[in-house]
Amino acid sequence: MSPTFAQLGVPKNICGALQRAGITTPFPIQALTIPDAMDGADICGRAPTGSGKTLAFGIPLVANAARAKSRRPRALVLSPTRELAGQIASELRTLSTRIRVGVIHGGVGYGAQTKQLQQGVEILVACPGRLEDLIDRRAVSLHEVDQVVIDEADRMADMGFLPAVRRLLDQTSPRRQTLMFSATLDRDVAKLTRDYQHHPVTHRVGNAKPDIKAAEHRFWRVAKAERIATCVNLINSEGSTIVFCRTRHGSDRLARQLSQRGVRAAAIHGGHAQSRRTRTLRGFIKGQIEALVATDVAARGIHVEGVATVIHYDPPENQKTYLHRSGRTARAGETGLVVSLIQPDQVAAARKIQRQLDLKGPITSPDRIDTKSTAAPPPRGEDRNRSKVQNQPANGRRRPGSPRVNRNGQRALRSRPQRRNRSNPRARSYSR
Ligand code: ADP
Ligand code: MG
Repeated sequence: MSPTFAQLGVPKNICGALQRAGITTPFPIQALTIPDAMDGADICGRAPTGSGKTLAFGIPLVANAARAKSRRPRALVLSPTRELAGQIASELRTLSTRIRVGVIHGGVGYGAQTKQLQQGVEILVACPGRLEDLIDRRAVSLHEVDQVVIDEADRMADMGFLPAVRRLLDQTSPRRQTLMFSATLDRDVAKLTRDYQHHPVTHRVGNAKPDIKAAEHRFWRVAKAERIATCVNLINSEGSTIVFCRTRHGSDRLARQLSQRGVRAAAIHGGHAQSRRTRTLRGFIKGQIEALVATDVAARGIHVEGVATVIHYDPPENQKTYLHRSGRTARAGETGLVVSLIQPDQVAAARKIQRQLDLKGPITSPDRIDTKSTAAPPPRGEDRNRSKVQNQPANGRRRPGSPRVNRNGQRALRSRPQRRNRSNPRARSYSR
């Protein structure tokens, strides 16, 4: 039996806040790390996306954060992207009304951020670039920071932020507690551990490679001219979808084309102002937008539960990109569908990715796969070679403000077994 949060040493008021948010049973990574983190140990945690890392570090942080003076936060969470920073801050704020949580990232004005630092925050959630900027402007100092979390350290490395992360860590208290979370713990992340953590306790959950097999992967051969119609059919039948395009321009164009065909679609990419990106993402979370058309860079910041489908509209650059994109669905114990649209000249590249990721299955036309290989999606919970974490029930819990409604004003977040009968070839067709 899994322990309760109280048994892990979580203070009563936080247990109450969790309960009110519908969180009653700790996920495995939380059960492993919370007691050590509450005791002040350095932690090196490896767990796949959607396994609950935010609360794994958030609970000890909120429980232990000391009172902060103006411009001198006591705890720092470093995040690779703006969207993630915002999401972490909101999750921490639900845990306690006493602890002030500030959030710092680029793409928005300095005024509000400077003011919030001036008033004082116990916990600061920040992206490295803007934080360095504000330190230069003397709007904040890290000298009293004695708890640091580096979230998504591997993505931080991928995005070239590690030198900045090191400079920032060097400014914090030398007696600090350092918690690091990452989907992988090799290479640069290992070096960060070596240089900045003291006798860290390492906890691992799930497989070393992200377990993308929690989702169903389909590979469809689609002529260029048929891609849009295929997308429209898929979105109409499955609901909430993220569609990946290679370029900003391509994303804008596809979002327009989908809208013209009656799909509520919006593009999200680095060419848009942060306020617009936030608005778009909020619309998607609320179900007002059914299809988010994203570039790979923008997608790194998207952490939304309940995405039914991921479409690789343009092929991913490599297997790593395929993993990142596909990981947007089938999170936190949910199931999901991942569809690659493959033009004839892209077949070889697609086969290579299939081989690298051990994703067996033919490349077929949309019609054939729909009537054939999907006859019996295994029920949820049945052994589908999932990791321990992904077998955890999500307790039916959703992030506040992300109602499950379908496209008639309600967001469709059907998990696979609840979907329409796929074994009936006339149930629907994905072609044209
Ligand atoms: P990760 O950072 O590992 O990708 P998150 O921390 O974003 O994962 O958590 C994924 C989702 O699971 C979030 O919506 C979160 O609120 C939810 N969640 C986390 N822990 C629990 C829990 N113990 N019980 C139910 N839901 C949880
Ligand atoms: Mg996370």
